[in-house]
Amino acid sequence: MALFMISCEKASELSSKALDEKLSRREAFELWLHAILCSLCRELKKQLQTLHLGTKRILDDPDPTCRLSPDAKKRISQNLKKEK
Ligand SMILES: [Zn+2]
Repeated sequence: MALFMISCEKASELSSKALDEKLSRREAFELWLHAILCSLCRELKKQLQTLHLGTKRILDDPDPTCRLSPDAKKRISQNLKKEK
């Protein structure tokens, strides 16, 4: 079991990676196992997902009430891509 136990740092890395790409079976298993044992990382994973969905919605949504100019959306989108 200890063999598969990853650090919280690694778990948060995998959590954010999982939002952008499919994890390998091993990575998914390690993250799953860590999340069972670590409530902190479970919470972080949830928050990351909410944040990710929220950001995606703002960038994708052509809602006219959204105050971001197309230019600002583009900049945010580019910055998000850079961080990956
Ligand atoms: Zn953890």
